[in-house]
Amino acid sequence: MIRYISTRGAAPPVDFRAATMAGLAPDGGLYLPDRLPHLTGEDIAALAGLDYAATAQRIMQPFVGDAVPAADLLALCRTAYGRFDHAAVTPLIQLDGRHWLLELFHGPTLAFKDVALQLLGLLLERFLAGSDRHLTVIGATSGDTGSAAIHGLAGIDRLDIFMLHPRGRVSDVQRRQMTTVLAPNVHNLAIEGDFDTAQALVKRMFGDPDIAGRYALTAVNSINWARLLAQVVYYFYAAVRLGAPHRPVAFSVPTGNFGDVFAGYVAARMGLPIARLVVATNVNDVLHRALETGDYAPAGVVETATPSMDIAVSSNFERLLFEEGGRNGTALSDQMADFAAAGRVGLTPEQRGGIARRFASVRVDGDEMAMALRWAHERSGQLIDPHTAIGLSAAQRIDLDPAIPIVTLATAHPAKFRDAVERASGNRPGLPPRVGDLFAREERCTAIPGTYDALTRYLREHATPAA
Ligand SMILES: *Cc1c(COP(=O)(O)O)cnc(C)c1O
Repeated sequence: MIRYISTRGAAPPVDFRAATMAGLAPDGGLYLPDRLPHLTGEDIAALAGLDYAATAQRIMQPFVGDAVPAADLLALCRTAYGRFDHAAVTPLIQLDGRHWLLELFHGPTLAFKDVALQLLGLLLERFLAGSDRHLTVIGATSGDTGSAAIHGLAGIDRLDIFMLHPRGRVSDVQRRQMTTVLAPNVHNLAIEGDFDTAQALVKRMFGDPDIAGRYALTAVNSINWARLLAQVVYYFYAAVRLGAPHRPVAFSVPTGNFGDVFAGYVAARMGLPIARLVVATNVNDVLHRALETGDYAPAGVVETATPSMDIAVSSNFERLLFEEGGRNGTALSDQMADFAAAGRVGLTPEQRGGIARRFASVRVDGDEMAMALRWAHERSGQLIDPHTAIGLSAAQRIDLDPAIPIVTLATAHPAKFRDAVERASGNRPGLPPRVGDLFAREERCTAIPGTYDALTRYLREHATPAA
């Protein structure tokens, strides 16, 4: 059975359930499966007749093992993906002879993070039911992660979620998608300060023995393996519809924390014929520079029309460095210590070579993003969101055999970023019916100062100790 090992090599291997509940490994590393199941061409061809939920169960079962028996895992997938408002769950849309969009935004909060967080909520609910444990989920969000996490975790027994957002700095749609969820286990905190302030406060709590020792803190950002696993599924689902295993497919992925594109890498390693994984970044291009030059060197972050990609450091890049560095936890741990000390680190020739075999990268600026957005609209009547437009622009510029179809992951619904879409295209997308009366609903949110004292005081008053 698959066990989960830490990228830093100093945590005991655990099963799927423990890895899912913990998020981060106790040695500060990220969990990865100790081996990857391999699908033959025949196995992949056999996915062709399955719907999305059945595909998800088939792909995920070897990773989940007996933590959730097959019939139950299928039932969880049916529940999670039954909440999407498209029969295909993640439909493919053709833009022209070569370019396709994979729409990942048909879930409750209009962004791809629902695909993973709807399922993660059900998994955590199952793992907590009948246990005597209590989990406290804490996160900071610039918008998308927070709303998807809240919708995935609302109403779960034995679990509280505290989500910090920088007050006044998330879009109206994003804020309301968080604050109108009135379940008693949901705590929205509007922090005075910017996203980095909120993020730093959360990090400090995880490292504070007074807090971490009292509450079972867990993270549901993309460091959580179960989230990445749920995202591996749609690479298979899309590629099979475009002719895999008989025809290779390329994917262009609007990238921030490197979670989504790492899921594509896992799919490729499992045997899916992926001709190229394109890492599309905006002007916050730390990953593009790392892939081009071998120097992983974060710089300051500038604000763009694609906030979910405005990152300085990509947490999941560590997973790739581990995989392409010979899966050596000690070496990776040293490399990450160098990175922490110097603020930058060089990739080894082995890592560079391995990465170059599967990945390409493109940096896309605001003008190029707007051009791709207009192109999709003029060419095929599709209004796309700015994150998706970054991916599409990269897809259009990549050097690849023209016979290979290239799928851009459409990571958010255009209505989620209405102002930016309108600026780029002159068209203002309407809110889809599934978000209904979002602007009429009651909001609940607590404003607190951006200080550690204020935050921990709130937590002590509202959180439940581990057991
Ligand atoms: C989170 C997000 C991304 C970036 O995904 P990563 O897994 O962090 O690389 C891209 N687009 C949108 C709309 C997102 O919400």
